[in-house]
Amino acid sequence: MTEVVTTVEGLRVALRRRRHGGSVGLVPTMGALHAGHAALIRRARAEMETVVVSVFVNPTQFGPAEDFATYPRDLPGDCAEAEANGADLVFAPSVAEVYPAPDSVRVAVGGLARRLEGAARPGHFDGVATVVTKLFGAVGCDVAYFGEKDYQQLRLVVQLVRELFLPVEIRAVPIVREPDGLALSSRNRRLSPAARCVAPGLYRALCVGRAEVEGGERDPTRVASAIAASLPRTTEEVPVEVDYAVCVDPETLETPPEVTGPVRLLVAARVGGIRLIDNLAASPPEAA
Ligand code: AMP
Repeated sequence: MTEVVTTVEGLRVALRRRRHGGSVGLVPTMGALHAGHAALIRRARAEMETVVVSVFVNPTQFGPAEDFATYPRDLPGDCAEAEANGADLVFAPSVAEVYPAPDSVRVAVGGLARRLEGAARPGHFDGVATVVTKLFGAVGCDVAYFGEKDYQQLRLVVQLVRELFLPVEIRAVPIVREPDGLALSSRNRRLSPAARCVAPGLYRALCVGRAEVEGGERDPTRVASAIAASLPRTTEEVPVEVDYAVCVDPETLETPPEVTGPVRLLVAARVGGIRLIDNLAASPPEAA
């Protein structure tokens, strides 16, 4: 039976009761759990003695014009999904529990956090770094699981843990996709039927970029242009606004002078008003 706790104190009591010196794994989520989250939970279940799933829609990572208020929330559904995938505990705190003194403490991040998502969503990664640091402190986990779906977030968290000497190991889980290639996301449920038909175009454009890299294209800006040119176009029914399409170093997320090893291809676009992100690994023929 999965136990649901809503306070840090309750979480610690529950962990003390369950933990017998074994490992604790954390899967941080914002809820509205789907098969992508389930893959993280199952991986944690296979590797850890105790598995904690946090469900918290973190207000500090949303901009003032973003969808914090309308972000999908379904705690009963999330608890059922967490239980079905073997979680021991669901930690679902209130905003007041996580931020007892709002604005008093923030983790500020620069470097790779300023580019791409960070440029499109100012302050977003400070919010992510702050909540991740708080969750690691609250849970005291040995390992935390993050999806490659939010690739820049994953790189940022790896850097955060390294720079703050946090005693947590970060493990990455590959992207889970729909049969038509659309990366699973809680926001997909807000796509109109017409926008849902257009949305897999992001993945198809990334595949075009990967084919370029695998075909020997060594100029990252030409790879990025090939992706951009393949992205869905605005129609009368579904407006598409592209934020970025890039071919970057998989660790620094900077554009390399030349593609001589593995790269990461990333896109972000608003499809029918819903902001979607996706990414894909690619390697040139000599590195494959
Ligand atoms: P979120 O609830 O959107 O904050 O996501 C929580 C965690 O699940 C993050 O580490 C995401 O990268 C991961 N995640 C979300 N969607 C997917 C997916 N389609 N495949 C793999 N991981 C995912």
